[in-house]
Amino acid sequence: MDYTRNVEALKEGTVIDHIPAGQALTILRLFKLDQLGQRVTVGFNLNSRHMGAKDLIKVENVHFSDTQANELALFAPHATVNVIENFEVSKKLHLESPEVIEDIFSCPNSNCATHNEPVKSYFYVKSSQSGTKMQCKYCEKTFARDMVAVIE
Ligand SMILES: [Zn+2]
Repeated sequence: MDYTRNVEALKEGTVIDHIPAGQALTILRLFKLDQLGQRVTVGFNLNSRHMGAKDLIKVENVHFSDTQANELALFAPHATVNVIENFEVSKKLHLESPEVIEDIFSCPNSNCATHNEPVKSYFYVKSSQSGTKMQCKYCEKTFARDMVAVIE
């Protein structure tokens, strides 16, 4: 069996590269990439000249929307999203932090209305030199990005 070819070659799909090591599973779950019925190849802790270690995801026959690419930016700001068509990179998606993000993160404030009422979480995203911050629309508190976890 040509193992290398089987793993490496992707005719149509998406390759997400330069994911911070340890984030690939979160991204798989977030975008439900494992539930699409498509072939998914995930690499953990691959060598990266720039990052030391990185994760990588390849998904066959799936193309990311700009919205998804922007959501991805919150988990992997320096990731590259390559669109593969006919075995070649046809496009690289530019990742930009979204201005708002809905229904993905849970508000860290335990007194926040989102924990008791049937509303979707909603954050304003603010990126600056000192890092990304997220402000909850409901309790209006602002949190550093890494303080805010994905809804389980
Ligand atoms: Zn809140």
